[in-house]
Amino acid sequence: MSIPLQKHFDVIVIGAGPSGMMAAITCAESGSSVLLLEKKDRPGKKLLLTGHGRCNMTNLRIPGNFLESYHENARFLTSSFHAFPPEEVRELFQSLGVPSHEEDDGRIFPDSQQAATVCDALERALSDAGVKVLYSSAVSNVAKTGNDPEKKENFLVKTENDAYTSRAVILCTGGKSFPHTGSEGDGYHLAAENGHTVTALAPALAPILLSSFSDTSMDRREDCGAEFTLAGITLPDVGASLWIDGKKGRSARGDLLFTHQGVSGPAAMQLSRELPAVAGKYPEGKVRFVIDMLPDLREEEVEERLLSAMTENPNRHMKRLLCETFHLQEKAAILALSGETMDLSANEVRKEVRKTIVRNLKASAFDVEKCTPIDIAYVTRGGVNIKEISPKTMGSKIVEGLFFAGEVMDIDGISGGYNLQHAWASGRAAGKAASEYAQN
Ligand SMILES: Cc1cc2nc3c(=O)[nH]c(=O)nc-3n(C[C@H](O)[C@H](O)[C@H](O)COP(=O)(O)OP(=O)(O)OC[C@H]3O[C@@H](n4cnc5c(N)ncnc54)[C@H](O)[C@@H]3O)c2cc1C
Repeated sequence: MSIPLQKHFDVIVIGAGPSGMMAAITCAESGSSVLLLEKKDRPGKKLLLTGHGRCNMTNLRIPGNFLESYHENARFLTSSFHAFPPEEVRELFQSLGVPSHEEDDGRIFPDSQQAATVCDALERALSDAGVKVLYSSAVSNVAKTGNDPEKKENFLVKTENDAYTSRAVILCTGGKSFPHTGSEGDGYHLAAENGHTVTALAPALAPILLSSFSDTSMDRREDCGAEFTLAGITLPDVGASLWIDGKKGRSARGDLLFTHQGVSGPAAMQLSRELPAVAGKYPEGKVRFVIDMLPDLREEEVEERLLSAMTENPNRHMKRLLCETFHLQEKAAILALSGETMDLSANEVRKEVRKTIVRNLKASAFDVEKCTPIDIAYVTRGGVNIKEISPKTMGSKIVEGLFFAGEVMDIDGISGGYNLQHAWASGRAAGKAASEYAQN
């Protein structure tokens, strides 16, 4: 005879991503009975993809730089990050059998170099803490069972085939990107049905699609010859900026990777959240992606160096001269040369052409084709309005007993472990507060 499943819990956590698993573990360790409902057939599908499968778990620079790293809503994180800083995240994972190490720019990775180790450790911790986990259980509805202000009403949480009640609910359904991992934006509807507003959703940390890359893999410099494609080359440590309607917008610095559709890598990804959210293609020239291949030199300095290199080496082929003078890869040098200059030597280059080369080195401009689809963004910008959430407890200011954690909220960070740090810290804060609420 099968034992009927318990239907009432102190806390129900919706979504077994990093924030939901952290919330459920914290809640259960604080003494609450916890049900974790996950839509997919296993936990942490997106977590397994993080850091190219290596999981950049957090970042040690965060206490010092979080105000600029989480954009306009960074202040919301002060309390939760103070309560669960990156060092403590590392210690917790160490205690769960996941030692980690620091790589460049403060980024923390598990020593195993595998995201699966992080996910497995969380699964073990869920089981050790006594959390009841149900997979293939997509939540379709969350509502209070009554509205008597004098008593703490229970929540009724419905899945396709079942219904459960609880004192508190933590919504950890993630964003809307990489939908095959389960993050399809369900949490926005569940929050809205409970009176919350959801700010505009947009891609963040996404590749940028360039017009001339959309139909073929050739870049715009067709005059460089049919063999030439930028796809696959990486320009290390460049400056990049977005120009919208002729005005310079945000800039970023870092490595840039050309793909068959446009640009990726940190310098492009950081800027993607600034793309105007317009349906369809942008009109020609409206949004431009501008690359500064020599961000440490002013335009005049580039011109000076180029002129003196050309004077000293009058017979040197321009492509070679650019590579040697500015330590550029050959394809980057080609990008700075227009068709007719490609085969010239230095003494054949006129002043206007030299100026064009300098401009190309400092500001090679490409038309952006359209806003990147949110599906292929690493992170979703926008979400449940943080003005309606307490930053200390992650509790709803609208519905008592409802809590949030992770990307479902209107928070996004730069790349480098910043988004997982938010998932851990908000999961921990929500787990503690929901457990306390449910037991009092
Ligand atoms: C390719 C890629 C690489 C990344 N690399 C990094 C990195 O190295 N470092 C970093 O800091 N960040 C990284 N990120 C971002 C990071 O993965 C996310 O910010 C993080 O996973 C968010 O955690 P979350 O728990 O809020 O949501 P998610 O991880 O999206 O988890 C949400 C969970 O809720 C479940 N769910 C959704 N709706 C329902 C429902 N109705 N009922 C039940 N369950 C539901 C989903 O199935 C899912 O399991 C990366 C993202 C991507 C896509």
